[in-house]
Amino acid sequence: MRAIVAGAGIVGLTTAIALRKAGIETVVHEQAPEIRAAGAGLGLWANAVAVFDELGLGERLRAIGRPAEMYFRGPGGELIDPPGFSVDDHRYLLVHRVRLNDLLAETVGPDNIRLNSRITGYDETGDGVTARFGDGSTAEADVLIGADGAYSVVRSQLVPGSDAVEHAGHHAWRSVVTPPEGVAVDQGVIVVGDRRTRGGYVPTVDGTVYWLVNQLAADPLRGTAKEQAAERAVHLDTTGWNPALPALIESTPDDKVLYNQIMLVPPLSTWVSDRVALVGDAAHALSPHITAGASLGVEDSMLLARLLVAADSVPAALAGYERDRIPHYRLVNELSKKVEESATPEEFAATYVAFSHWMLNR
Ligand SMILES: Cc1cc2nc3c(=O)[nH]c(=O)nc-3n(C[C@H](O)[C@H](O)[C@H](O)COP(=O)(O)OP(=O)(O)OC[C@H]3O[C@@H](n4cnc5c(N)ncnc54)[C@H](O)[C@@H]3O)c2cc1C
Repeated sequence: MRAIVAGAGIVGLTTAIALRKAGIETVVHEQAPEIRAAGAGLGLWANAVAVFDELGLGERLRAIGRPAEMYFRGPGGELIDPPGFSVDDHRYLLVHRVRLNDLLAETVGPDNIRLNSRITGYDETGDGVTARFGDGSTAEADVLIGADGAYSVVRSQLVPGSDAVEHAGHHAWRSVVTPPEGVAVDQGVIVVGDRRTRGGYVPTVDGTVYWLVNQLAADPLRGTAKEQAAERAVHLDTTGWNPALPALIESTPDDKVLYNQIMLVPPLSTWVSDRVALVGDAAHALSPHITAGASLGVEDSMLLARLLVAADSVPAALAGYERDRIPHYRLVNELSKKVEESATPEEFAATYVAFSHWMLNR
């Protein structure tokens, strides 16, 4: 069997590793001239780490990660620990996105990745699929997997009218920096603050620190990305208990502050055709207030590879994949919505850990 994966993000690369491990000849096509990860830190939950363990990458993954725990504080610094959950529901591994993508790309192997190769569409026949690329070339395979992110070209052909939409007023700022002189960061601090702002910082494995600020329902933005992040960090410390976050933001060079308008892919009623399937953000770009899009996405990769190996035919495997994923993500969206709509830090912390508990214990 031959597969084409469109997109060399975390989920596309993981899909290629899972397929190749299952004996499926797989080539990844990436539009960019290099494998690069936009972003800074990434929290991988135990469900994602289990996928990488199964793919034989667990040890190398842990070597580039630092264990962390997602406990929230209120804007006055008070720790919130919702009752009824164990520490395992809070634990995750913080990795640097660039190092994770490098590890995954190295595992797929450069011979199996085509750079500068933007998929522009595909044609399905009864017994296969032909992918078309921006340079006029084509490639044939038994299955095409769209892992091309929130703005997926594969999705736009498979499910017309399913464009990603702005999550109005929802913005994120983040970076990874070396802490400035006098700022010691030996443990993570994440705050659910005033004005629907959330953020804080987490130390990485190499002595740098990942800081992030998110805001839902933000006023129109003014100033540079760094100024916008600093303006919102004020909502995360109402009593002066935590000067580290503003200091980390202040020490970040302007061009290293990554800003995103958050985009969402509306829930899809179709994830597959006979020869084409969607994985990762291409199928379900979620609001990052649950910080789990990638962790959920790599589960798509593993499930798809398992079904392609076990089913009698590609169409049967893809139909089984869709039957599983649609109700699964309906629940993800319901739980995520509860977190988003929380009125207080306590409610946010409780609905968040209810989500992570569900994700890790299904
Ligand atoms: C602020 C923020 C914080 C987050 N934090 C976390 C977190 O802590 N933990 C977590 O699990 N998730 C987190 N997420 C979600 C996570 O970032 C995404 O779910 C994940 O990166 C999606 O990976 P992907 O491979 O599906 O898509 P992408 O990472 O978007 O990769 C898509 C790839 O496809 C390529 N591509 C696009 N179009 C084409 C084309 N036509 N042809 C060929 N290639 C193409 C792109 O260049 C890119 O390389 C966060 C998201 C945000 C916005």
